[in-house]
Amino acid sequence: MTTQIVVVGSGYAGAGAVKAFEDEVGEGEAELTWISEHDYHLVLHEVHRAIRNPAVEDNKSPESAFVQGRVVDVDVDDRVVETDDGTTVDYDYLLLAVGSTTAFFGIEGLEEHAHQLKGLDDAKAIHEDIRSAAAEATRSDPVEVIVGGAGLSGIQTAGEIAEYRDKHRAPIEITLVEGLDEIFPNNDPQIQGALRQRVEDADIDIRTGDFISEADEDTVYLGGGEDEAPDELGYDVLIWTGGITGQPEIEDVDVEKDERSHRVHAGSDFTTSDDRVFAIGDTALVEQGDDDVAPPTAQAAWQAAEVAGENLARAARGAPLKSWTHEDKGTVISVGEEAVAHDVMGMPIQTFGGTPAKLLKKAIATRWIAKVSSTGRGVSAFGDM
Ligand SMILES: Cc1cc2nc3c(=O)[nH]c(=O)nc-3n(C[C@H](O)[C@H](O)[C@H](O)COP(=O)(O)OP(=O)(O)OC[C@H]3O[C@@H](n4cnc5c(N)ncnc54)[C@H](O)[C@@H]3O)c2cc1C
Repeated sequence: MTTQIVVVGSGYAGAGAVKAFEDEVGEGEAELTWISEHDYHLVLHEVHRAIRNPAVEDNKSPESAFVQGRVVDVDVDDRVVETDDGTTVDYDYLLLAVGSTTAFFGIEGLEEHAHQLKGLDDAKAIHEDIRSAAAEATRSDPVEVIVGGAGLSGIQTAGEIAEYRDKHRAPIEITLVEGLDEIFPNNDPQIQGALRQRVEDADIDIRTGDFISEADEDTVYLGGGEDEAPDELGYDVLIWTGGITGQPEIEDVDVEKDERSHRVHAGSDFTTSDDRVFAIGDTALVEQGDDDVAPPTAQAAWQAAEVAGENLARAARGAPLKSWTHEDKGTVISVGEEAVAHDVMGMPIQTFGGTPAKLLKKAIATRWIAKVSSTGRGVSAFGDM
């Protein structure tokens, strides 16, 4: 019987791996079933764009057999995957590429009151809340928007809201809250400074150095301790982008995982503690030498997918697996229509902004869409980015 491969997830990791598998596999060597909750590939690293304009989305019709559904159970003994409508799919080799979900770190009231941004529906809900609040607001009583967490997603989210505010001349005040001492924490001070400047130029208040300790229906509480009252920030719309954790369905899958985040431990060839299960992208902590793992970025997932897809075909034919090393090709971050690029491979300047950075940001997304769908779709998507 032909070897059955199952890939779960149609993000960067899943879509890229399916494509790489299809390119690698020989005639009759293996069959692939692709399972995902959506029958489209969302360019998640550009999903903040949909806050400003919810029409930005991209559809993908896969070549492999496709099952639409959310995977709710994986039985590694019987090698079967089950979706939320009870469909079961058997596998010989399984690739888990289900991404991550938002970590709320047990902060009281945060999950209940904050929007998260992990998909198109989230972006649409944020857009709708801001739009309806702005319709009621005045210059003297503007909409207060707080974005918690100033990593890649928080900075870009705040930038999109500022762009919406300016385009619609809406009375909106935006505050970007970061618990650590600088925005885009744990990164080079040069890119931190360049981003801070663009965020401030976009008239976004930055508040660093205090963690959100609690949230209720109209107030965010910052810091505070035994003898100290927390600072209070009132809000109308609250968005939390402060961390990621594993998808809940993965928690019970019998492979070794990080205890706290239940992200799956994977080797640099994407194998896990179960020799029939591979894991990749945000789902996994992919080993990269001593005590290091690949970062949870689109860039890393995209690179890893090339090797993971090939490894699925290799596993099917009993060939040795390839090892993957993450190569940091630089960072490009948007703040609305502005962008900052840093350490970009082949560029003589370490940190730059302006038109070159903006074009680079668009080109990265376009190149990706062209890769997983068709070149024509990629080119036509360029204007949407
Ligand atoms: C707002 C925002 C901005 C970002 N900006 C950048 C950036 O500028 N640069 C960068 O490199 N990275 C960026 N990132 C991070 C990047 O988007 C992620 O690291 C990347 O999406 C991870 O890819 P993935 O394929 O592992 O997961 P995802 O892209 O999240 O894909 C997961 C897939 O699995 C599906 N799925 C989930 N659970 C199930 C289930 N139980 N059953 C079936 N299907 C399931 C989902 O529908 C989805 O198709 C950003 C992220 C966000 C949220």
